[in-house]
Amino acid sequence: MKESKIRCSFCNRNKDEVRILIAGAEGHICENCVANAQEIIEQELNPGGEARKATPSHFVPKVAKPVEIKHFLDEYVIGQDDAKKILAVAVYNHYKRLNQQVTEDDVEIEKSNLIMVGETGTGKTLLAKSIAKLLNVPFTIVDATVFTEAGYVGEDVESILTRLLQVCNYDVEAAERGIVYIDEIDKIARKSDNPSITRDVSGEGVQQGLLKLLEGTEVLVPPQGGRKHPEQKLIKVNTQNILFICGGAFDGVDRIISRRIQTHSIGFTVNKEKEEDARKHILRYVNSQDLKQFGLIPELLGRLPVVTYLNTLDKEALSAILTEPRNALVKQYKKLFKVEGIELTFTPDAVEYIVDKALEYKLGARGLRSICEVVLADAMFNLPSANEKSFVLTREYCAEKLEKSTLVTLKVA
Ligand code: ADP
Repeated sequence: MKESKIRCSFCNRNKDEVRILIAGAEGHICENCVANAQEIIEQELNPGGEARKATPSHFVPKVAKPVEIKHFLDEYVIGQDDAKKILAVAVYNHYKRLNQQVTEDDVEIEKSNLIMVGETGTGKTLLAKSIAKLLNVPFTIVDATVFTEAGYVGEDVESILTRLLQVCNYDVEAAERGIVYIDEIDKIARKSDNPSITRDVSGEGVQQGLLKLLEGTEVLVPPQGGRKHPEQKLIKVNTQNILFICGGAFDGVDRIISRRIQTHSIGFTVNKEKEEDARKHILRYVNSQDLKQFGLIPELLGRLPVVTYLNTLDKEALSAILTEPRNALVKQYKKLFKVEGIELTFTPDAVEYIVDKALEYKLGARGLRSICEVVLADAMFNLPSANEKSFVLTREYCAEKLEKSTLVTLKVA
């Protein structure tokens, strides 16, 4: 067996993800599974007794180096190299921090929560999800828009931690090392840069609430989420080692950035080509100052020290997304058809057509799936009952199906 392919025969964790792998006659077992087995044995032999903790409390996933993290992300996410690099470094440092021993020098590495700015459907959630997959830690996605300031209708921000607890079966220690992706963080921006006198229930209040979580304190979490009830028993969760990744489209931040750049950088407009390129990739220059102007409070931005951006997806990127990643849509549909014994082929011009339509309808990468669903709906309905062994998806076929569908109404958007 090749060294790197050695895995725990019980939990399938890779050699790199565990600290110890004990070899047996036919396989291997890691320290976590030994601890789990020990717990089972204790429970079996001593049914009434309190079992020992399954996971060793010192267990921190062994993290790949930033370059390896990026390679891993490359398998799932197309492009977005800058975001991948920043994310890889942030995650690497975060886990280095978790592994740091209390030393004499008193230097404490600070948490590297981060914020990703990029249009919807450019891969922000996918990046966060893929990172969690790599690290094998509890991961949850929450939408910032469902939260309101304590005392108003809506969810308390603490319920973010409820979800994290739920995904790891209320294992508090595991949750305390998890990753939370907060989507649509831009939607809780305060409406103008001037602190308003009137109450801003959905904006600044929620930011203040989030601040408490991001700061790294002990938070009392309602186990079932929702609002806190006086009679509910709360779970104490320390957020110090939870990695928070926030994402948002920040519509209009490009104008803020270009205003800043134009006033601060002399000579920015000297080269026409450069100027055009800069305009197209303006998000590349985003920083905390821009996000503050957009309406995030400085205290919150202080807790999100790393800011990165995602590129708008162009034709090339969309085409790659459709065909290249490990679970690219084309591969998924081929597999679906294969189960029926049918070989599905997308002609290159069919792929091009689908990409063009996704761009035309301004649906981004998310639109690729909607378009494929529409285009393939009839085939998926009819072919299982037919005796066909192959199906070729052509540009003409796609056009015919799409023209008849309700998706075309999106054209006007
Ligand atoms: P966002 O969080 O930026 O709004 P998502 O990450 O949810 O967008 O992307 C939506 C879907 O589009 C993903 O599930 C994925 O299939 C696809 N997608 C978006 N961007 C990329 C990318 N850069 N590489 C591969 N797939 C992508």
